[in-house]
Amino acid sequence: MTDCLFCKIIAGDIPSDKLYEDEEIYAFRDIHPQAPVHFLVVPKKHISCPAEIGGDDEQLIGRLIRIAGHIAEKEGIEHYRLVFNNGEGAGQTVFHVHLHVLGGRAMTWPPG
Ligand code: 5GP
Ligand code: ZN
Repeated sequence: MTDCLFCKIIAGDIPSDKLYEDEEIYAFRDIHPQAPVHFLVVPKKHISCPAEIGGDDEQLIGRLIRIAGHIAEKEGIEHYRLVFNNGEGAGQTVFHVHLHVLGGRAMTWPPG
């Protein structure tokens, strides 16, 4: 999608601090980290939000979560939170599905 920020990051048109890339998935550090470690794991395929994840994407999203766990391990965070925001009211600001991985500090529950 040409006007999507994350599609531009994946394409390399906007620089990012890349942590991982394969044919389907891209991971990079969040520009406004909310924890000592905060990175995003995104499918290269443009899917606008979690609610738009289709049956054909189940394997892709499963891999995305598995890779998030591997990167977290490499980053040295044993305890971390995985977050998908869906819709503006839940805090979604970029409409290309992405998994937040936050760690390196204590987390409270419920989230604000
Ligand atoms: P959302 O609010 O949609 O769940 O998450 C979007 C995330 O993207 C935010 O945490 C925000 O800080 C991050 N972000 C926005 N623009 C950029 C950017 O240009 N580069 C990087 N690395 N992260 C960004
Ligand atoms: Zn996109």
